[in-house]
Amino acid sequence: MLVFVVCWPALAWLAGQLIPAIGAGDFNKVLRTIAAALAVFLVQKAAQFGQDTLLAGPALQVSQELRRTLFARLQRIDFGALEKLSAGDLTYRLTEDADRVGEVIYKTIQDTTPSALQLVVVLGYMVWLDWLLALATLLLAPVVVLLVSGFGARVMGAAERSQKQVSELAGLLGEAIAGLPLVRAFAAEPWLQQRFDEEIDLHRKARYRTLRLLALQHPVVGFIEAAGILAVLLIGAARIQAGGLNSQGFSSYVAALLMLIDPISHLTTNFNEFQQGQASLRRLRQIESEPVEPPDRPDAQPLGPVRGELVLDRVSFGYTQDQPVLNNLSLQVEPGQMVALVGPSGAGKSTLFSLLLRFNTAQEGRVLLDGRDLADLRARDLRQAVALVPQRSNVFSGTVAEAIAFGRPATREQIREAAQLANASGFIEALPEGYDSRIEERGSNFSGGQLQRLAIARAVLGNPAVLLLDEATSALDAEAEEAVQHGLKQAMAQRTVLVIAHRLATVQEADQILVLESGRIVERGSHNQLMAHGGRYRELCERQLIHMGA
Ligand code: ADP
Repeated sequence: MLVFVVCWPALAWLAGQLIPAIGAGDFNKVLRTIAAALAVFLVQKAAQFGQDTLLAGPALQVSQELRRTLFARLQRIDFGALEKLSAGDLTYRLTEDADRVGEVIYKTIQDTTPSALQLVVVLGYMVWLDWLLALATLLLAPVVVLLVSGFGARVMGAAERSQKQVSELAGLLGEAIAGLPLVRAFAAEPWLQQRFDEEIDLHRKARYRTLRLLALQHPVVGFIEAAGILAVLLIGAARIQAGGLNSQGFSSYVAALLMLIDPISHLTTNFNEFQQGQASLRRLRQIESEPVEPPDRPDAQPLGPVRGELVLDRVSFGYTQDQPVLNNLSLQVEPGQMVALVGPSGAGKSTLFSLLLRFNTAQEGRVLLDGRDLADLRARDLRQAVALVPQRSNVFSGTVAEAIAFGRPATREQIREAAQLANASGFIEALPEGYDSRIEERGSNFSGGQLQRLAIARAVLGNPAVLLLDEATSALDAEAEEAVQHGLKQAMAQRTVLVIAHRLATVQEADQILVLESGRIVERGSHNQLMAHGGRYRELCERQLIHMGA
């Protein structure tokens, strides 16, 4: 950077030699000076290359580190907070915004610093040449600075608004792409198109405001510069007349003056980018300020082997203070028992699961596993002992073996066993590459039944004592359904199972059925007992909220 900067006054001095030599027709001197200038340029550009490449690495690392820490933060974010952030918006922040911050840091070191140094060194040279002339030049600087910073603030505001529009657009796009079948099914395309049109219109306007400000900035700053240079020429002529400067010195001075334009314009652009980068950084910081899952208690004990006894002791919970979702819920599940939860949607069944996984913590009452309060356990241990088979079998892309292991250390043998339990080994081994076959994004190259069995295998891999099962409501064909049921049956054996049940066969096999309504258990008993009782359960069966299976 220093080599690069010091070359500028050297070049200005050479210009001072060159211009009068050209005027005097001293061809030899012209030739020598041009050769020297070429050599200086060569050194300078080589230095610039070295500086740029040396700085690019660390700057990119900053982006990477930013992304890495924020993603780690995102993984621990509170689910309530996550729901409020749209996936598209988050994606934008972690890609575009993180890149922008890295770019600004790069620019600041790679461009802003040498520009500022160049300004100082060249100005120093000008003062040395003729301080009076330099003083006149310097008087123009505050005007430029004031203009620049005034504009900068406005550009920043406009840039922030326009970035917000982009992420809103991304949010809408994400929603639209995911919901496209639904939109088509409701023939809602015109409605969606209109929403989209409005959004892109807002986006265009916000961008336009930014661009207009930028467009205005360049001519204004450019005009001030031009006027300044003309003024300097005038004063310079007066100084030569007064004998304070010779023509060589004045040529060097003008060359040096021209060398100020570049760094000033770089500094203005970079200043704007710097402010845009600050807007990005602020948006990234917001992720950091979102609440995360509370850490384990410092005195949390390891769990050890688990029998699988679950107790809820007068548990009450609400996502917000004023709206209870679970109300004074008590229940006891012996190790190896199977309990079916039934009830209309919104009754609180999934919320109960979220308490058992400690995604949420009860405001009142206690949840106990083998007699130990979940709050006293380490989340990691708990989630090894309690496994979830979700309703929609989200399987990550990667190989089949990776999807089952899901980041846990597991031998091929253990993966195979889990697959066997889940009744998945048959179809996996029939694949050309077996356990190394690739699963595409969203599991698009596997059938629904296969994905469900993979999700079951993933759940049983660590041999959890407790299985939380959210039965799929979407109908599979009879054959696939039977394969999944077979896998589930094997997976459930000798485990405590809580199942959000939609199928008659499941509830008939349950040791206990709990009917949940508005966060309360309104009935409990076996299928036959509850049918005989003729209450809510029977109604649910008759309204076919519990299905006859496939
Ligand atoms: P179910 O699984 O029985 O359909 P849920 O447990 O999903 O019921 O929901 C119970 C109630 O809690 C519903 O009124 C639902 O709107 C509310 N609820 C569920 N999840 C959240 C959440 N993350 N934030 C706020 N309210 C929620």
